[in-house]
Amino acid sequence: MRLSRYFMPVLKEDPKEAQIVSHRLMLRAGMIKQQAAGIYSWLPLGYKVLRRIEQIVHEEQARAGHIAMLMPTLQSADLWCESGRYDDYGEEMLRIKDRHKRDLLYGPTNEEMITDIFRSHVNSYKDLPLTLYHIQWKFRDEIRPRFGVMRGREFLMKDGYNFDLTKEDALHAYNRHLVSYLRSYERMGLQAIPMRADGGPIGGDYTHEFLVLAETGESEVFYDSEITDLKFGDRAIDYDDVAECQAVLEEFTSRYARTDETHDAALFEQIPETRRRQARGIEVGQIFYFGTKYSEPMGATVVGPDGTRVPVHMGSHGIGVSRLLGAIIEASHDDKGIIWPEGVTPFHVGIVNLKQGDASTDGACGALYAELKAQGLDPLYDDRDERAGAKFATMDLIGLPWRITVGPRGLAANKVELTARRTGESVELSPQEAVARLK
Ligand code: ATP
Ligand code: MG
Ligand code: MG
Ligand code: MG
Repeated sequence: MRLSRYFMPVLKEDPKEAQIVSHRLMLRAGMIKQQAAGIYSWLPLGYKVLRRIEQIVHEEQARAGHIAMLMPTLQSADLWCESGRYDDYGEEMLRIKDRHKRDLLYGPTNEEMITDIFRSHVNSYKDLPLTLYHIQWKFRDEIRPRFGVMRGREFLMKDGYNFDLTKEDALHAYNRHLVSYLRSYERMGLQAIPMRADGGPIGGDYTHEFLVLAETGESEVFYDSEITDLKFGDRAIDYDDVAECQAVLEEFTSRYARTDETHDAALFEQIPETRRRQARGIEVGQIFYFGTKYSEPMGATVVGPDGTRVPVHMGSHGIGVSRLLGAIIEASHDDKGIIWPEGVTPFHVGIVNLKQGDASTDGACGALYAELKAQGLDPLYDDRDERAGAKFATMDLIGLPWRITVGPRGLAANKVELTARRTGESVELSPQEAVARLK
């Protein structure tokens, strides 16, 4: 993309409404625009990052054997009456009436709808295990929408639902989700720690929230510092192997890590004092096994091996796709702007032309731009007629991991400068070498 033809409305001033750095930087970089409290347009740069995060989620869900689909944002109230949640959900649910005075709602989550789909089409245990998911907009009428996309009212969520014959099978699905989530967050350049969470009225030990440590996080967390040394990395995993997935769960959840809702001071104090940490975190996902909570009242049953009908065991598993943009920026920025991890960056590299209008720098930048695209990379070429300082400031603000600077002096020696956003380190290379480094 040539910046002169792009739509990236960068703000010069810090927006007053932004209380935390990610919100400020997303507004300044022209990534989002608020349309109403907690409701945002995704401008091109923000939309690109959102799509990259979605793509990682899709790839990792596919790897785990989970199946993508799409359910609507609007739901009929009838289904929610069947589960009993229509009255329980309270004011967070946006309730709508259509012209026939039928009650609809903008879905805050999809347990009821997916259970309805399941019961309409699945009859036998032979069709299990089954895990379906979608990435769809949700609406929750949060009492205090704030921090930009972190706590929106309309927000994008990946939510997946497993259907299994037995509790054991459903716990294997739970473990598969844990592993796939660890992989997803790491690919986004994030450390998200699974922490024991509160099962709510259903209770039980089978729920974990994934938290990114950040001072601006809304959750209070307590953990053993050893947990931050754990990394899933690029190890191979067989998602069908029950023991292998269970071992990952044990590895990542055996050390103390809890949110304030489940915090147990006595247990915490058994950890050596030097390893005890109390901090704040951003919830970027949650996994949940809830058994037959929805399948029983809604009649989602299958014929088991012995010929009798039994309600299926279910779980639901969410990732806060749009919240992740904020979380990534909270975890990765400096005083000049965003520092995108390579896995989610909107463009791979920025090209800065120091002397726009000069035939030789324009020619070299054009050639570099074409070559990077030919290599399958997505460059952003700042071809505006602006001072070098302004171009650098924009590149630093939008946080592309690499910048190639092209000026007449360097070109005379066939050199351009390749700079890493994170470290600020630069090397002089020929244009060909610079492309080769980025491939
Ligand atoms: P929170 O505790 O922050 O209100 P939640 O526990 O109500 O979140 P879940 O029902 O677990 O949310 O939804 C799955 C994920 O969706 C969350 O882990 C979070 O990342 C994201 N999410 C929830 N509410 C919002 C929101 N208002 N804005 C953006 N993302 C959200
Ligand atoms: Mg909530
Ligand atoms: Mg929560
Ligand atoms: Mg949650």
